[in-house]
Amino acid sequence: MSGYKRVLLKLSGEEFGGGKVGVDPDVVQTIAREIVATVNAGAQIAVVTGGGNFFRGAELRQRGMDGVRADYMGMLGTVMNCLALQDFIEKLGVETRVQTAITMGQVAEPYIPRRAVRHLEKGRVVIFGAGMGLPFFTTDTVSVQRALETHCEAVLVTKNGVDGMYTADPRKDPSATKIEEITYDEAIAQGLKIMDQTAFSLSGENKLPMIVFGLLPEGNILRAVQGERIGTLVRA
Ligand code: UDP
Repeated sequence: MSGYKRVLLKLSGEEFGGGKVGVDPDVVQTIAREIVATVNAGAQIAVVTGGGNFFRGAELRQRGMDGVRADYMGMLGTVMNCLALQDFIEKLGVETRVQTAITMGQVAEPYIPRRAVRHLEKGRVVIFGAGMGLPFFTTDTVSVQRALETHCEAVLVTKNGVDGMYTADPRKDPSATKIEEITYDEAIAQGLKIMDQTAFSLSGENKLPMIVFGLLPEGNILRAVQGERIGTLVRA
């Protein structure tokens, strides 16, 4: 069975919040347990956290806020998710480092790609926060950028309540069917919205595979890393 030695895991804010505003410690603990099991099996994991459980720039912008300031609020929200995840992973005995794209020395290291790679080689989980540090981006695009810069072999995208990519949202459209495998060009042409289009085109151009799968049942992160065919494979 083929597998991946180093992966980038994208966790959306929705997952941290268990669908609500803020952080649900039970959910974060479960995710931490899975990450630790995967590291203990010999894989290297970097994580990018989303922040939609606190703020989404686009929503605040629609409600009249200055868009750039709203995006910075969004980025700061992602850091709280990093700290929650860091706490639960370290409680399980695995070392972590949080690196943020906006420097905040009291809580995290700055984003230094070569240092991140060293941490990964030493078996530490590196958690990237504050997105790209730039307004007008999303953490989807950041996931692909960080994966490329730290030489990850795949991006893993976990989803709450769905087990992969579908032709439409299966929670709204009963005729939606699951996609086993798709190319980036096809995903963009079909307007599939699991990740934003910039993320799809960046990973497509760089031939970085992406696996989209459900967080449940427990053990799926390890299964995906070990090369078991779960969810949807997106490839160049
Ligand atoms: N954000 C940004 N630049 C980045 C990453 C994130 O401005 O590089 C802001 C943006 O406002 C976004 C928010 O942070 O809405 C939270 O990130 P995202 O929506 O990607 O989180 P998720 O949907 O994964 O929870």
